[in-house]
Amino acid sequence: MNDCLFCKIVARTIPATLVYEDDLVVAFDDINPQAPTHTLVIPRKHVTSIAELEDSDVGLLGRLMLAGNKISKLKGIADSGYRFVINIGEDGGQSVFHLHLHVLGGRHMAWPPG
Ligand code: AMP
Ligand code: ZN
Repeated sequence: MNDCLFCKIVARTIPATLVYEDDLVVAFDDINPQAPTHTLVIPRKHVTSIAELEDSDVGLLGRLMLAGNKISKLKGIADSGYRFVINIGEDGGQSVFHLHLHVLGGRHMAWPPG
């Protein structure tokens, strides 16, 4: 999608600190980190939010999560623990409308979330 910020990161037309990529997903560090590790994992294809996914996207969803696990190892937080977050829509706190999985770690996470 031409005017999507994260599609531009996939296309390398705007810069990002890439952490991991494969045939389906790209991961890069969040520009405004909320924890010592804060990486975003996104599908290469434009999907507005997780709410848009269909049954046929089950593989993509699994690969997003598995990429998150790989990133936890790359970032050295696999043993200390980490949190996956996917914000959906306005009340969910979504601000960029290209599906992304937040991988947060390197500090203790509070509960409940704000
Ligand atoms: P959300 O609020 O769940 O939609 O998360 C969007 C995230 O994208 C926020 O944590 C932002 O800090 C992050 N973000 C926005 N622009 C960029 C960018 N150019 N590079 C990396 N992360 C970004
Ligand atoms: Zn996009």
